[in-house]
Amino acid sequence: MTTVEELLAQAAADPRAAAWDVLYERACHEGFYEAEETLLITRLANIAAEFAAADRDEVLTLAGQLAADMDEQSHRRNAETLAQLRHLATDWLPTPTDSQTFIYRLRAVLALEGDELWGQELERLIHDEVEVECPQCGTSLFIAFGDRGHFATHEDYATRSEVAQTPLLPAAFADLEGVGLRLYSVSIEVGQWSVAEAITYVFGRATCTQCERTFRVSDQVERY
Ligand SMILES: [Zn+2]
Repeated sequence: MTTVEELLAQAAADPRAAAWDVLYERACHEGFYEAEETLLITRLANIAAEFAAADRDEVLTLAGQLAADMDEQSHRRNAETLAQLRHLATDWLPTPTDSQTFIYRLRAVLALEGDELWGQELERLIHDEVEVECPQCGTSLFIAFGDRGHFATHEDYATRSEVAQTPLLPAAFADLEGVGLRLYSVSIEVGQWSVAEAITYVFGRATCTQCERTFRVSDQVERY
């Protein structure tokens, strides 16, 4: 197996090197030892600083993945490096990209800030649906906000054409607060309209197709 040092050397030479994928896969599945993690995150901060802002997708997405898996102790131990990475992410976030990559960027930024929930779960927006449990009856619901329409359903709408569905109530700007408001505002600022719209659905309300209870979708993502 190629060592982390070797992979980092290849990755540092090219913002799109294949080594980035290898490192990312390893971060997602096997993880790294504590010593490797510290080496890696420190090197990532240096590499990100060398790359132009628009070339930081691989390096900062990987840093975000590492941060998302860190416990509080690791966050404290790497606090200075994480602060550097957050600083480097500020220039990177608004550089032009597609909506999917932008969602990964937002997720990485939240992970670098230590947001344990959205630093992981924001990725679910990429699929134009989130799956949550009804807070009242516990039914598993799909909250869909893509090309197939905007609705909640307990049925498998991917394979069936006719499913029981209730309309979603997207959050108005005034209803947004906390992380939802922040994600929405950042998306609007940089012209990522479709991401901003998806956020109004995830932080808006849905109605259960089984028991008719209306609830805030993001509250259920937090509990899922
Ligand atoms: Zn229900």
